[in-house]
Amino acid sequence: MIYTCKDCSYRGKSVGQDGSCPACGSFALSRGNSNPAVKPTSGKLRIILLVGLWAYLIALIIWKLNH
Ligand SMILES: [Zn+2]
Repeated sequence: MIYTCKDCSYRGKSVGQDGSCPACGSFALSRGNSNPAVKPTSGKLRIILLVGLWAYLIALIIWKLNH
């Protein structure tokens, strides 16, 4: 189990007796995953949606011009 402090970025296997950060005394500790929270792929999905919307609009304009 790895503890990570959100205030001083302490990372270690031990914490204080009261569950606080041994480096700065903060209680903003997260445990478990040693990696920081990875952002979901919503950014990538948003770009794909945006590109798809633009492609749709351009196709619509071309279709309107041809008819
Ligand atoms: Zn700390």
